[in-house]
Amino acid sequence: MHTRSGLKASLFALAAVAATAFSAAPASAQGSLVMYCGVQEEWCRAMSNAFEKDTGIKVAMTRKSAGEIYAQLKAESSNPRGDVWWGGTGDPHLQAAEEGLTQEYTSPLNKDLHDWSLNQWKAAKQRSIGIYAGALGFGFNTEQIKSKGIPEPKCWADLLNAKLKDDVQVADPNSSGTAYNLLATVVQLMGEDKGFEYLKALHKNVSQYTKSGAAPAKAASLGETAVGIVFIHDAVVFAVQGDPIKPVAPCEGTGYEIGSMSIVKGARNLDNAKKFYDWALTPVAQALAGPAKSYQLPSNKASPVPAQSPKMDQMKLIDYDFVKYGSSAERTRLLAKWDKDVKALP
Ligand code: PLP
Repeated sequence: MHTRSGLKASLFALAAVAATAFSAAPASAQGSLVMYCGVQEEWCRAMSNAFEKDTGIKVAMTRKSAGEIYAQLKAESSNPRGDVWWGGTGDPHLQAAEEGLTQEYTSPLNKDLHDWSLNQWKAAKQRSIGIYAGALGFGFNTEQIKSKGIPEPKCWADLLNAKLKDDVQVADPNSSGTAYNLLATVVQLMGEDKGFEYLKALHKNVSQYTKSGAAPAKAASLGETAVGIVFIHDAVVFAVQGDPIKPVAPCEGTGYEIGSMSIVKGARNLDNAKKFYDWALTPVAQALAGPAKSYQLPSNKASPVPAQSPKMDQMKLIDYDFVKYGSSAERTRLLAKWDKDVKALP
């Protein structure tokens, strides 16, 4: 599978930051850029500040979850306000591409990217590109699990334990790219009927569906919930700072995301959006992730991989069908079904 072997290769891409120099002239460029940012606030800020410093282009950045940014682009489509959508899971980027909310672009940096990043670009018909990859899983609070007297959860099935009632958090897949990735993952891993049975059973243990995908990792690190279903790298953030949270790659296998970037159709600052796009694909820009506590795998082969990044080549990853689950019809259908069959349950 292209995507997986590409991911594996990236684990060895620890080369020093290479000579892929960004050609914008510092401080001489002008104007502004409206950026919709789909990752964690700290990384969003690091990116917009560094781009501003390198180019002199003023960045107005807003952080939102992936499903929310997609909905915003749709709502603004007759009068676009954003220029570039940077970050967030690839599925809603693909839906936006299919619906003509974003536009084609071919960066000169494409030649430096992993296959999995270019697969997103091809699937989106040049309207989106992979900027990072990360696997889905969960994090559990070691103290909470110990006090419940249950074995440490290692598998998706373990999250159905009745002793975890009201002690699992996950986001709402309508707003969160992470939670939609979970929905698509269980459907692919278990089949649609069994997948929905799983989500209904899980619902009994879910205390709340948060808006943002990474929020349950923080809640688990603080002991506000026993388990948070998140991208594994989002649980690692708290584990490396010494919080009592253990990240888990589920034993049955799991899905993963190709975090993506797209240029908004009708962008008012199109030249600056292209400048940002090219810059965001350089190893120098991608190296901002680690210091901003974001441990995804970067898409440029020459970007340094943060030492804390989960080892995706050692996980059982499903052959995630991004084309199908990022299609407008399938994403719309699955979200409506989840609202009706899962969220509406008492
Ligand atoms: N934060 C990080 C670090 C991520 O990797 C991702 C996924 O791309 C997200 C946030 C997505 O956020 P949400 O699930 O709120 O859309």
